[in-house]
Amino acid sequence: MLRSALLAAAGSANVRRLVEANPLTGPVVDRYVAGTTAQDAVEVTRALSSRGLHVSLDHLGEDTRDSGQATDTVNAYRAVLGSLSDEGSAARAEVSVKLSAVGQFLPKDGEKIALENARLICEAAAAAGTTVTLDMEDHTTTDSTLDILRDLRVDFPSTGAVLQAYLRRTEQDCRDLATAGSRVRLCKGAYAEPASVAFQERAEVDRAYVRCLRILMQGAGYPMVATHDPRMVAIATDLAARARRSPESFEFQMLYGIRPAEQVRLAADGHRLRVYVAYGDEWYGYFMRRLAERPANLVFFARSLLGR
Ligand code: FAD
Repeated sequence: MLRSALLAAAGSANVRRLVEANPLTGPVVDRYVAGTTAQDAVEVTRALSSRGLHVSLDHLGEDTRDSGQATDTVNAYRAVLGSLSDEGSAARAEVSVKLSAVGQFLPKDGEKIALENARLICEAAAAAGTTVTLDMEDHTTTDSTLDILRDLRVDFPSTGAVLQAYLRRTEQDCRDLATAGSRVRLCKGAYAEPASVAFQERAEVDRAYVRCLRILMQGAGYPMVATHDPRMVAIATDLAARARRSPESFEFQMLYGIRPAEQVRLAADGHRLRVYVAYGDEWYGYFMRRLAERPANLVFFARSLLGR
């Protein structure tokens, strides 16, 4: 119930105004968002790299209906990739891109524009010596995102995809993408989805996550295990060992601000651990999804709004 309410609020302009206007929101947002500028993102990348961690940078923004804003997003990615390259951090940092931020929902030729814009970001990433992963948004975008991924991979074969275990279709998508050279981030899924397309119960989602993990670990691609769930981390470690995978042949991923000690522990144990670092001004949707993931976050947030 609470999760659905928060995810509905993530799309509400009125709630957005209320949350953004409250000066006490800032410190709570700071837990999950690394700053507003490219320089903030580069500094956080440097700090995480010094602890043996890898990074995926997300320039916050989504769902734009304005082609100028989509172009601004492309330019923001180009700028941060240039900065990473200049300071030699690009080997440890890739970027994550939401296609809805680069034009997928534009009323005219949205998909075509998103593909062209994503291609420009892939070119900048390749020039910097790194790569791109396409974030996955709600289920209405899955086919379009996977089509764009296929096109991008012709010229940029290391472009990664995200699959969401809560979607009923995802086991088959895992089979399709568990091929040589294919990078797949498996997450549970962060959007409000109907029962017709997605498992609703936590236990069902967890079981689906394990089935998908098994397919990816046994396949020939590069699995990116995106979860903070200690059970899923343990199962992934076990499945990787059974599939005789070396530590470089898969990675764990977690979000900035969530279980940071565990991030460092996994890296110290010899695993590759990538932190997803979101930065920028457009933090509202991202922040509300983080609140929805854990009811305790809402209590924490409400207390800080009340100043207690
Ligand atoms: P859960 O069972 O939700 O959580 C396990 C434990 O982790 C919790 O008990 C708690 O201790 C901790 N935890 C989890 N979330 C939080 C939180 N917000 N605050 C504090 N503690 C928390 N989703 C998409 O739909 N599309 C994407 O492209 C996408 N990309 C992602 C990239 C990365 C690197 C990661 C880690 C997640 C991504 N997600 C994405 C979000 C994902 O779908 C889940 O919503 C999120 O990871 C929570 O699920 P969990 O696997 O951590 O398990």
